[in-house]
Amino acid sequence: MAWKTLDDMDLTGKVVLTRVDINVPVENGHVTDATRIEKIVPTVVDIIGKGGKPVLLAHFGRPKGKPDPEFSLRQVLPALRAALPGRKIIFAEDCIGAPAKTAVAAMQRGDIVLLENTRFQPGEEKNDAALAAAMAALGDVYVNDAFSAAHRAHASTEAIAHLLPACAGRLMEAELKALEAALGRPQRPVVAVVGGAKVSTKLDLLGNLVTKVNHLVIGGGMANTFLVAQGIPVGKSLAERDMAETAREILTKARAAGCAIHLPVDIVVAREFKAHAASETLPANACPEDAMILDAGPQTVAEITRVFESCKTLIWNGPLGAFELEPFDAATNAAAARAAALTRAGRLVSVAGGGDTVAALNRAHAAADFTYISTAGGAFLEWMEGKPLPGVVALEE
Ligand code: ADP
Ligand code: MG
Repeated sequence: MAWKTLDDMDLTGKVVLTRVDINVPVENGHVTDATRIEKIVPTVVDIIGKGGKPVLLAHFGRPKGKPDPEFSLRQVLPALRAALPGRKIIFAEDCIGAPAKTAVAAMQRGDIVLLENTRFQPGEEKNDAALAAAMAALGDVYVNDAFSAAHRAHASTEAIAHLLPACAGRLMEAELKALEAALGRPQRPVVAVVGGAKVSTKLDLLGNLVTKVNHLVIGGGMANTFLVAQGIPVGKSLAERDMAETAREILTKARAAGCAIHLPVDIVVAREFKAHAASETLPANACPEDAMILDAGPQTVAEITRVFESCKTLIWNGPLGAFELEPFDAATNAAAARAAALTRAGRLVSVAGGGDTVAALNRAHAAADFTYISTAGGAFLEWMEGKPLPGVVALEE
């Protein structure tokens, strides 16, 4: 790996500026889901264990570069205290200047400082050098544990990493290792599943994957666009008819790269987009004019299962059907269950990410068995698209 971890750093007596993602959902001033807060605990605990003083840098919501009580990180303090019981957590009213310096100076060994929302500073989203220098002046070492913010070059994720000895935190380390195992240097053959609503939002993703994986399973609404591209009617299905040419280009690129594309061979259609709508299973080329394709059929699932069984690595983004509506979650559930079982048996490394994908795999009770589930959203997708992530690149120097 080109980046350092906490194991490579001497933190004894050092103030450790630690970029975390605690951008949690808050309603009426209360955190409604503390998952992101819980995930930073190993990093904070390890820094303290190595004799360092963790000073947390984080963004929260989208304030417009100035203080706004609605976006104050003060609101997450109770949840942070609950996740780190027995620790003194000092809150600083600003992420730079006198309030931050005073809080850091007051730290005893074992204490934690939480700095106010970095986005209250107009320079944060501009990756401003002066802001980064003011942050860096507070500490001795920089740790980035916010993979989910690494696709953005901001002062607290990018510029600051060049100013101090820098390394990845535990969560960043786990994420990068999992992604490296899935697509960087995977065990082959590799299969990618790409589903979801639209081709247009995942063009770069498809274009990158066909050059990297051995098998590409295309499902969900985007499969409909590929059917259209081959002259197959899809009735009233969600499909981007103006993307047919683009879809054909992806198929050509895949052929040239030796990537086998798997499209639905059978489909589940309905007349209404709602749960338990009357449905029928038909060959993929037989969608009636007044119907829409809402899921892949059992023969398609059998083919996907065969592909999974022939592969050593799986990377998955996007459900195979309208999984929020029963029974149109069937293909997604069946494929997810097979991937989970193969992973449990030690036959498959399985990595998945994406907002709806994580929800779908949870619904299928498959998430716990996957090798790694990324909750990073945009950063995960950009990484899958083959784009360099500024926050990670900055750690590599
Ligand atoms: P992710 O958030 O994991 O990246 P997407 O947002 O791309 O995934 O796609 C998820 C959405 O795609 C879901 O809301 C799902 O209902 C929708 N979808 C999947 N298949 C179909 C289909 N055949 N018709 C309409 N919507 C679909
Ligand atoms: Mg989505």
